[in-house]
Order: sequence, then structure tokens, then C-alpha cells
Amino acid sequence: MQQSDIDVLRAQPLAARGHFINGQSHDATDGATLDVISPIDGKKITQIAAGTPADVDKAVASARAAFEDGRWSKAAPSARKKVLLKLADLIEQRALEIAVLGVMDNGTEINMAFKAEAMSAAATFRYYGEAIDKIYGEIAPTAPNILGLVHHSPVGVVGAIVPWNFPLMIGSWKIAPALAAGNSIVLKPAESASLSLLKIAELAIEAGLPEGVFNVVTGSGSVVGEALALSMDVDILVFTGSGATGRKLLEYSARSNLKRCYLELGGKSPNIVFADAPDLANAAKISAAGIFRNSGQVCVAGSRLLVHEDIHDEFVTEICRHAENYKVGDPLDLNSQIGAVHSQHELEANLDFVIKAEAEGAQRRTGGERILQETGGYYMPPTVMSGVKPKDQLFQNEVFGPVLAVTSFKDENEAIQLANSTSYGLAAGVWTSNLSRAHRMVSNIRAGVVHVNTYGGADLTVPLGGVKQSGNGHDKSLHAMDKYFDLKTAWIQL
Ligand code: NAD
Repeated sequence: MQQSDIDVLRAQPLAARGHFINGQSHDATDGATLDVISPIDGKKITQIAAGTPADVDKAVASARAAFEDGRWSKAAPSARKKVLLKLADLIEQRALEIAVLGVMDNGTEINMAFKAEAMSAAATFRYYGEAIDKIYGEIAPTAPNILGLVHHSPVGVVGAIVPWNFPLMIGSWKIAPALAAGNSIVLKPAESASLSLLKIAELAIEAGLPEGVFNVVTGSGSVVGEALALSMDVDILVFTGSGATGRKLLEYSARSNLKRCYLELGGKSPNIVFADAPDLANAAKISAAGIFRNSGQVCVAGSRLLVHEDIHDEFVTEICRHAENYKVGDPLDLNSQIGAVHSQHELEANLDFVIKAEAEGAQRRTGGERILQETGGYYMPPTVMSGVKPKDQLFQNEVFGPVLAVTSFKDENEAIQLANSTSYGLAAGVWTSNLSRAHRMVSNIRAGVVHVNTYGGADLTVPLGGVKQSGNGHDKSLHAMDKYFDLKTAWIQL
């Protein structure tokens, strides 16, 4: 990746974008638009259609028509595979362009955006494209005069609502398995991070996806998202975002057609460091990356550091050293290690958490203030708060920013109790050389993933999902396919 290539791409003017419905760009029915503000410098970079319920109806009708006439839903799995593999190739070929586009509206640092957004999306389309002609139905062990067949049928129209952090990676985790299974989709990206997903919808047509199968409606959550979730013709909703929105989606489902809702929500994930961690220096380095990468705007971020009291002081000093060494700055500068906070609103919310934590008695060890204000962008350095108590807001609530809450513990039982004492259950980390303890911790921590002697690693082969109020259902791995199929039994008298 060359800085000069990035600079050429960022200088290109961005055309205003419409919805993507039935293979075409459409303005909103009332012509309304939303400004897209770049977190890099706080300036308007383009505008997108501000969708209306009528736009959602149009997109859902397009998805429904495509599903019913079988142009995709009844295509041979091998044919669907070909299209998804082609789409993966197209994304990979244009990865830098797509990554830069995504950085312009969401602020993730370009090295990470290239890998975790564009290249990861390509890998996801490839993974589910490869999977789809390897999934078999079942013949049930019935009596000999009966043939019981269990078919995997696509569910129909999938409504997908995704957040602004890693829109492409998270969007692909839903779009790719849904399409592989033969469904049609209406996708609603976050209003502040729609550009890269609109690009993928266009590329899907170039890859041979029939028009109408994959539609994108842009605009606000309270209008477009709500209309999609209330639609009587959407069969399931797949969502990644906050718990507050997740609750609303369940309500909308209850008020409409009882569509199934799969919710990937927030976290306040504990990262637990025992005194017998195999390499404390490495633990500090990886733990710092585990909270601060992408300005902490990562659902599985290890945002609660629980440290054994014997090593607390030296470990916190080491974490602060790493925090202060990160280069925060323009996300399209290859030298930056951490880019912008996504929006002014998010920046203010992050800073507010710091003020409240201090008021509750926590100590600010580093960071905690806005930086690079002269750029007009939204930047905040890695921030470490120690002495955070279980009842404090910073211990209980997700910041979704670069703010680490540190709490010390005395023994394993207290560590487990602290780890489990929030309403979330998304991810966790444990650092210890004691294999038995590692297994006990994995067993006793209520979370969708527990990392041992690392933090934050994963690939497509393992599922991602939460327990407790971090949600239900899983993205990634073959398990993700389950959401996008209905099981249908054929009971045949022989
Ligand atoms: P959000 O809930 O505000 O928005 C997510 C999406 O929902 C956006 O597209 C938004 O427009 C839409 N939305 C908002 N109100 C809506 C409504 N009333 N009806 C329908 N749709 C509506 O969340 P966010 O701020 O974009 O994302 C941050 C959150 O996402 C954090 O809590 C983070 O932890 C979570 N997250 C979870 C995972 C995971 O895999 N579990 C991954 C990434 C992010």
C-alpha cells in the first residue's frame, strides 16, 4: 500500500449517493438527503438519500419479487457460489479504493480498514460462496415405510441493519451467508457509514447477482430502520448495534409479523491478567491493542482490565506506556496507528465518560481529552482510568471509545465475580500460565468468546455472538448459515 495511491483516491470528489434498489440508484421518494460528515476533518464530503418508509416498501417489494420468481433463490448452489466468488475477487481487486471510501466516512485507520474491512469482506464472500454447495439436507431415521426429508429452505426477505464501526466487515457477515442461502436482502447501513456498502451492492451486480436480490436503503435508524423492522414482508431481521436499538427491534417485530430478530449487541468485556501470566510485557502490549485499536470502537474491545493486585501498579504503568506511544491522527496517513473517533457525538460521549469516572473517584492515568482539534476532526488519545469500582458507570456501561477501566482483584473467585458482574456477555480475555485455571475461567466466564493468553484474535472459522444482553445468534462460521434457512420437513408415505 502506497501513501501516494491513498492520496489520489482521497482527492477524488464523491458523488451524491442514492439508495440501491432493484439494481439501480434511486433518490428518496421525497428527494431528501443527509449530509455525510467526515470524522477526519469535520467537513461534509457528500450526501446520501434520506430514506422514507415508501423507499423501504419499494426495496422490500423488489427483494420479495426477486425471491418469489426464483431468479436467485432457486438458482443452483453452484451458480450462487460462482457469483459470490466473483464478487470476492472484485472486492479484492478494488480493495484499496473501497477501504479509502470507507475511511472517509467512518474514520478507521487505513491499514486496519484495508484488512478488516475490504479484504475481510472479500474473504467472507469467498467463505460462504465456498460453503453453499457443501451443505446437505437430511434423511430422517424414520420407519421403513416413510421417507422423512429435512430441507434447508431460504427464509425469504432478510432485513439487515448494521452499525458504523466496520460496516463492511459486519455487513458482509450478514450479506454473504444470507445470499449464499438463496435469500433476498434489504440492507440499512448506519447513516454515517453507508458509502462502502453501497459500493459492494454495485459490485454484486457486476459479479452477476440478479437485480433486486440485494437492495440498500440509506437514511436514519428512526425512519428507515424502523420501517424495515415493522415491514410485514420482511421475514427475519439481522442486526448489529446497540442494545437500545435491539430492544426497539424486538418491539417492532412484536407489533408487526413476529419476524425473528438476531441481535449482535454491545459489550463491556473483561480482560483478566493474573500474576502468573506467561509474559507480562506481551500481555500489556496486546491488552493495549485490545482496547485502543480503532479508537476502542470495537464491540469485543477489552474495555475492563482486571489485574491481580500483586502486579497492578507495574502492569498499569506498562499499559499507559503503550497508550502514550500510539500515533493518533489522520486515518488516511499510513503513519497513523489510530484514526478518528467516528463523530462529534461519539467524541463528546467518550469525554463525558471520563468526567463522570473522575467524579466517581477513578484516577485518570493518561489521555482523556480531545486532541488535534485544529484539524476539525474528532480525535481522542488512548485513555486509562484506574481505581474503577464495580458500581461505577465506567465499569458497567459500554463507552465504545478509547477508554480503559482498570480494577484490581485479589484471587480467582473475585476475578470471575467481577468479570460476570455487568449485563453484557460478549468477549473476555484471561492471561495465566496455569492451564487448569485457564479452563476454569473459560468455563465460568459468561461470554461468547474467551481469549486465553491473547486478546481479540479470531477468523471466519469461529462464531461471534453474545450472551446475556450482548445479544443472541451468531455471525461467522458455518453456524451463521442457520439463521438464513428454515428447516422444512417432507414426510412421504412409501
Ligand atoms: P446503533 O444501535 O445506534 O445503530 C445501529 C444501526 O441501527 C444503525 O444502522 C442505525 O441507523 C440503526 N437504528 C438506530 N435506531 C433504530 C431504530 N429505532 N430502528 C431501527 N434501526 C435503528 O449502534 P451504533 O452506534 O451504530 O453501533 C455501536 C454499537 O454496536 C455498540 O453498542 C457496539 O458494541 C455494537 N456492535 C456490536 C457488534 C457485535 O458483533 N456484537 C459489532 C459491532 C458493534
